[in-house]
Amino acid sequence: MSSAADRIGRIECFPVLPRWLFVRIETEQGAVGWGEATLEGHGEAVAGAIDAARDRLIGHDPDRIEDAWQLLHRLGFYRGGPVLMSAIAGIDQALWDLRGRKLGVPVYQLLGGRVRNRISVYAWIGGDRPADIADAAKQRAAQGFTAVKMNGTEDIGWLEGMRQIDALVERVGQVREAGIDVGIDFHGRVHRPLARAALKAIEPLRPLFAEEVVLSDNVDVVAQLAGCSAVPIALGERLYSRWDYRPFLEKGVVDIIQPDLAHAGGISEARRIAAMAEVYDVAFAPHCPIGPLALAACLHVGAATPNFVIQEVSLGIHYNRPAEDLTTLVRNPAMFGIESGAMAIPEGPGLGVEVDEAAVREMAKSPHRWRNPAWRGRDGELREW
Ligand SMILES: [Mg+2]
Repeated sequence: MSSAADRIGRIECFPVLPRWLFVRIETEQGAVGWGEATLEGHGEAVAGAIDAARDRLIGHDPDRIEDAWQLLHRLGFYRGGPVLMSAIAGIDQALWDLRGRKLGVPVYQLLGGRVRNRISVYAWIGGDRPADIADAAKQRAAQGFTAVKMNGTEDIGWLEGMRQIDALVERVGQVREAGIDVGIDFHGRVHRPLARAALKAIEPLRPLFAEEVVLSDNVDVVAQLAGCSAVPIALGERLYSRWDYRPFLEKGVVDIIQPDLAHAGGISEARRIAAMAEVYDVAFAPHCPIGPLALAACLHVGAATPNFVIQEVSLGIHYNRPAEDLTTLVRNPAMFGIESGAMAIPEGPGLGVEVDEAAVREMAKSPHRWRNPAWRGRDGELREW
């Protein structure tokens, strides 16, 4: 057991399949914590930011998690954005894991204890080019899920795609007939001219939410959507801090926020974002189509956060191959078991994930270079992915 005089001695990064970035922090006295700084498609940039963070954190007291967060966020002069906030996120998660392990308690206990008994979850169906949705929904139901998420459309132009919206209504209807709740992720693919039509078309099918109908770059376009249907508006995977969320909350244009705990400053910042949202009666449903450490962080925060509603999980997601799924690099995969639409709150020390360190080190010897596909329309123009 390390003493109060312990210091951060080593910070390592591991790019692992399918598209994740793990962070390992070890103290001079040998205490270890793991986190996840996955920023899909930008792993090299985040690893670079973590390399720079070593200059600030080696020699720092690992128990001073908030001071480390402030140091990384404020001392660099330039702050915010996906790369820097993902680097902070991975380090923050690892420090919470380390702290919990040192004390022998799960992280949620350090966040004030649980406010619920289990964590509702949903999984993906349909992939990026959704088809055969009904069978996929039935398979998810058979696995124990009661809710799923699917992509709304394929790539779509500024003013092209009413046919795709008709197809969307057809597919969502099939999923609802399978007796399962469904959130619809538009992935920011729809542009302003079609956005209201897309929302109104799905409204009678009563989806759980419509996610990133348009990109979150323009709060006024989101505001236009907020009043045009009864479908709850969800967004936030491309917002990285309290400051990014602030205009959406103040303008009252979002119903469900979806910060990613590997992108938005980790456990520390997600807790603060959720508390801010609570003031505006907004629900909290963390984004997590990524790895086991990020998911574990979500489970702990969800356990301790009153306005948490449901957790995305990447089990069997279309980005993962069976040999590279959520539990591949974990020695205690049972912690991610699904029962009646929910996961158990992790009870092991720290984040509760027993990382297969040898497998991680071996896999990271051949770093992945995951990139999303480049989609182009009929005339060769670039489309949102
Ligand atoms: Mg999304």
